[in-house]
Amino acid sequence: ISKLAVLTSGGDAPGMNPCIRSVVRTAIYNNLNVVGIRRGYQGLIEDDMFDMHARSVSNILNLGGTILKTARCLPFRTDEGMEIAYQNLKKQGVDALVVIGGDGTFTGALRFSKKYPDIAVMGVPGTIDNDLYGSTYTLGFDTATNTVIEAIDKIRDTADAHDRLFFIEVMGRDSGAIALRAGISCGAEAILLPEKATAIDDLIKNLKTGENNKKSSSIVIVAEGDKNGGAYDIAQKVQKEVKFYDVKVTILGHLQRGGSPSAFDRILGSRLGYAAVNALIKGESQMMVGLEANHIKLTTLEEALNQHEFKLEEDLMEMAEILSI
Ligand code: ATP
Repeated sequence: ISKLAVLTSGGDAPGMNPCIRSVVRTAIYNNLNVVGIRRGYQGLIEDDMFDMHARSVSNILNLGGTILKTARCLPFRTDEGMEIAYQNLKKQGVDALVVIGGDGTFTGALRFSKKYPDIAVMGVPGTIDNDLYGSTYTLGFDTATNTVIEAIDKIRDTADAHDRLFFIEVMGRDSGAIALRAGISCGAEAILLPEKATAIDDLIKNLKTGENNKKSSSIVIVAEGDKNGGAYDIAQKVQKEVKFYDVKVTILGHLQRGGSPSAFDRILGSRLGYAAVNALIKGESQMMVGLEANHIKLTTLEEALNQHEFKLEEDLMEMAEILSI
């Protein structure tokens, strides 16, 4: 390969900037030319690309978000859109593409690469949801979990002062990864996850037991995708039965995506970016770079997308329940 392009796509995640820096500098070290693409596949279609150098990525390790910006792009889902994207890449002389994003981004990259195999593609898992097969951790998950923990600690202070029950909704439409980690870290009385149905009656019983055990405040973490509906719905149902607490709801929302990446995400981003470029240089394509047991591992995009074995750890769920008695 001689010229590499890099983009970030889908939801932004802290750690994308360290990864962009790593991709650009590893490529330049290996005498490749690099272009950055703005706003993911949208910029690919609109030919919004610019040359990048070692200094283009100075002082970005500590920045949240993504300097390349990101977008959700409908036209890239069509054959016509893909053809325009391909022509733009050819015009620039690009023969390798690093995409940093989640499963939607990889689905697009794989389709594109099957249509136009002369452009090698490498995926880097960048999503706070930690829901991709082939990497124990995805970029942004650690920072987002730490941000959630910081917020919940503050809510715990006020919950405790007033004998309150807080329902805190965290991100995760299909994944309870943040909810579970944050729940363990903050001593939540219950954690409601998309992966595991919790009956409201059981939740109420659990909260009553807590009150009998002299708990002065309670925190219930609700992942966005929990099947009981949102935190407001659940809180309303619970308040009818639980009179001993004043029930409040906090939706943490988009603050969970922002902030300076943690040490873990800076190092993960650097490792994955470095590995992505080295894999492309070796001639690999249609793969995702991930981290398993602290080693870089390549998984085919096909497998990363189709393996549904990825599950939340049962032992963590069990432990969280036991430790909240
Ligand atoms: P996150 O999980 O953090 O939201 P994501 O990468 O899954 O990240 P999506 O919005 O699902 O985010 O996908 C990003 C982009 O990938 C879409 O906006 C679209 O341009 C492209 N994409 C998704 N699915 C397809 C598809 N089937 N064909 C072509 N492109 C697709």
